[in-house]
Amino acid sequence: MTFAPPPERRMFCNRTLNMRSIQVVGFDMDYTLVHYDVKEWEARAYAHARRRLVEEGLPLEGLEFDAERFARGLVIDLETGNIVKANRFGYVTQAAHGMAAMRHDEQRRSYAQVWVDLSEPRWVFLNTLFSLSEACLYAQLVDLLDAGRLPNVAPDDYRKLYDFVGRGMDAAHLEGALKAEIIADPERFVEFDRDLPRALLDLRHAGKKLFLATNSEWSYTAPMMRYVFDRYLPEGMDWRGLFDLVIVQARKPKFFVGDEPFELVDEGSGATQPHTGPLDDRSVFQGGNSKLVQQHFGVDGGEILYVGDHAYADVHVTSRIQRWRTVLILRELEREVREEQAFAPDQARLTELMTEKEHLDEEQAMLRLALLRIDRDGKPIDGLPTTANELHERLRALRPAIEELDGRISPLAAAANRIGHAQWGPFMRAGIDKSRLAREIEGFADIYTSRVSNLLYLSPFGYLRAVRGTLPHDATLPQADSDSP
Ligand code: IMP
Ligand code: MG
Repeated sequence: MTFAPPPERRMFCNRTLNMRSIQVVGFDMDYTLVHYDVKEWEARAYAHARRRLVEEGLPLEGLEFDAERFARGLVIDLETGNIVKANRFGYVTQAAHGMAAMRHDEQRRSYAQVWVDLSEPRWVFLNTLFSLSEACLYAQLVDLLDAGRLPNVAPDDYRKLYDFVGRGMDAAHLEGALKAEIIADPERFVEFDRDLPRALLDLRHAGKKLFLATNSEWSYTAPMMRYVFDRYLPEGMDWRGLFDLVIVQARKPKFFVGDEPFELVDEGSGATQPHTGPLDDRSVFQGGNSKLVQQHFGVDGGEILYVGDHAYADVHVTSRIQRWRTVLILRELEREVREEQAFAPDQARLTELMTEKEHLDEEQAMLRLALLRIDRDGKPIDGLPTTANELHERLRALRPAIEELDGRISPLAAAANRIGHAQWGPFMRAGIDKSRLAREIEGFADIYTSRVSNLLYLSPFGYLRAVRGTLPHDATLPQADSDSP
């Protein structure tokens, strides 16, 4: 009997996790416990940001949010106004300037000697689905600047454009009008997951302590959590009953690195006052820091699991600074895994053809070396023809064979590069390598999975083992014989 969910709902493990040793589970809210319809939510965030920038005099009227244009894990290059995809070494594998994809030769020219190093201020990593509206707005501003329509910005000051985006987005998120729209019509914006309350109830019943640490304000958190949880909880219980600690406006990532004190929130008015003394499960707290949370629960960092969707603020610092265990929520994974499953037979064919090509390339290289040797010192290479004429003939015969093979490889390779996203391809891969995002995930997310309710399949007593990683020299090992018992 197997309890495994469909592949796209599995929990994927970088670092072995024994749920029995986890005492406390913390959750982020937005795009973690509360998942939004990206097209709807980000279109409204974009509209509010655009309105703000139009008020500042930017000619953004008539422009629209395009949810399909960019993806999490891409990186804004503030120096050039490009948006790029990088592999795990930071080497740029794809790029767009403004809204348009860059030609391969242009991209090579810009990035042959440049690597994406996220510690440099030049690069802005798209950490979360909130970044999709931000990236779209930035790319549209780049196009406007290039078209000479931003007279107050120097022609190549692509950094300044990001200041506009930051201001517009902050205004959208913080000024209240956007959130009021969401609260007024949650059905339109929130993707409901009826398994979610069950997943949290199981954890609680198994004796885990749960807490919420969201960057959202109380006035937004309360109606969203109510909407997502309350109707599926047992009689007499509301969402507050699920959590042993509720923290709003946590100011992550600072929450994980700083020493900010907690404040107490008045649930009616949202007003705050300084808080001293122990935390409790009846109050709502604001700000604070992760050390105090850990102290409150009296556990080691390794006994706390934090679940969030922001690759940096929920997972990177949490794991690196606080040494908590981490789960990264990536909803896009469902599409990517489903499409990879469907592509598997073609992928097998592609791998076969690439192996064939490798053999032909190798033969071609050795034939050329044999020619060189005959020319220089007359010594042939074992197994290859001994005269220059014969070598030339073999080389001539190889050329069309390689071309024919390339003709069969390229449509398959192109299809592989469209998995998950028509323009940028799979977010976990860059060509045949891992993407920069995949690198971030393997470095800091112990587990990655598409949604919180996938915890149901793990159970509070489950044990997730890290998969044995592959290394390039594994290719020298004998292949497992598929007919053997
Ligand atoms: P969390 O994911 O539950 O921690 O909440 C994320 C919060 O950050 C939400 O309240 C968002 O509205 C807010 N947020 C997301 N992007 C921005 C931004 O660019 N500026 C300001 N707030 C943001
Ligand atoms: Mg979040």
